[in-house]
Amino acid sequence: MRNTFLPFSPPVIGEEEIDEVVDTLKSSWITTGPKTRKFEEEFKTYIGAKEALALNSCTAALHVALVTQGIGSGDEVITTPLTFTATVNVIEHVGAKPVLVDVEEETLNIDPEKIEKAITPKTKAIMAVHYSGHPAEMDKINEIANKYNLHVIEDAAHALPAKYKGRYIGSGDNLTAFSFYATKNLTTAEGGMLTGPDDLIEKARIISLHGMSRDAWKRYSKEGSWYYEVVLPGFKYNMTDIQASLGLHQLNKLAVFQKRRYEIVEKYNSAFKDIDCLEIPSAKKEVEHAWHLYVFRLRLEMLKIDRNRFIEELKNRNIGTSVHFIPIHIHPYYKNKYGFKENDFPVAYNNYLRMISLPLNPGLSDQDVADVIEAVLDVIRLYKK
Ligand SMILES: *Cc1c(COP(=O)(O)O)cnc(C)c1O
Repeated sequence: MRNTFLPFSPPVIGEEEIDEVVDTLKSSWITTGPKTRKFEEEFKTYIGAKEALALNSCTAALHVALVTQGIGSGDEVITTPLTFTATVNVIEHVGAKPVLVDVEEETLNIDPEKIEKAITPKTKAIMAVHYSGHPAEMDKINEIANKYNLHVIEDAAHALPAKYKGRYIGSGDNLTAFSFYATKNLTTAEGGMLTGPDDLIEKARIISLHGMSRDAWKRYSKEGSWYYEVVLPGFKYNMTDIQASLGLHQLNKLAVFQKRRYEIVEKYNSAFKDIDCLEIPSAKKEVEHAWHLYVFRLRLEMLKIDRNRFIEELKNRNIGTSVHFIPIHIHPYYKNKYGFKENDFPVAYNNYLRMISLPLNPGLSDQDVADVIEAVLDVIRLYKK
């Protein structure tokens, strides 16, 4: 057993990031400026996005996306119960009603077969989440959206870089929100990126910075002008050059990070594939998984302990894990407001009860990975029926 605690997902920050942050701090420009613009350009090129807007979180990007699409009071937005609360909170922020649709068993992504039944005359958008980095069924989702004239917004917090049928998530016509939170595949401590078509991103840019007319962020620089016009009451969601300093180097390292994630997934899969009380995650043929999370599921009927106890046992063996996610419909706010019952979304709920996310990040050494595997196998040996 290892004798130090292995944290679930520490950031992997190198000297390059540190030097760039110091360079920014010593310059005369620390907030949104040239490095943020450069980060937007390089991110856009990396995934082949039409346009990109750097923001201070993925939550901000999702909020701005809804406002950009004109979604508000009285509207309904279809989304998944198996997501981080930010996805659903922003629907509440704009005064719309989140309509949850259960997930599919295999990928735990929103089940396209169940979307159509949830559409009403008030439905304005579908918010798809690429759970754990496995792209949702975008062809089917886009097809339904076209048929009913709905917007599609993609929560790609886990999906950098991921591909669906050969194309990067974020490179299409849907507004797509990425997260650079500390635990994500690329981090700026806090940060996000919204990608999509030029006209929508131009509008989103204004909404995200006080509603001030174009390029107002330059107003304190020599090329800028003191004059601006406020065209709507916007938000304060801009990314700083300090954050972008991290992002530029993290993006340079992304391919190397991903290679390591794939190696670790391979090690976990080969260690666990023949263990009959575990179900390991997989990827459909037509996708390239971003492997943000490694979520395995316990076959509880084959074990003497439940999921929570399994997590405790791993913690006792110095392995940090997590659960993604506590379904939206069992959180008190949503449960009380909409009168949800646990089994309203049985696939999400039943999988929640048996899922565990193992450490998966490029900072893990081979020894760390071996320690995780050993701990999991040890718990199973002890508690298998
Ligand atoms: C992390 C996460 C978010 C929020 O990202 P922030 O950058 O922290 O705002 C949104 N959706 C999902 C699915 C996430 O995992």
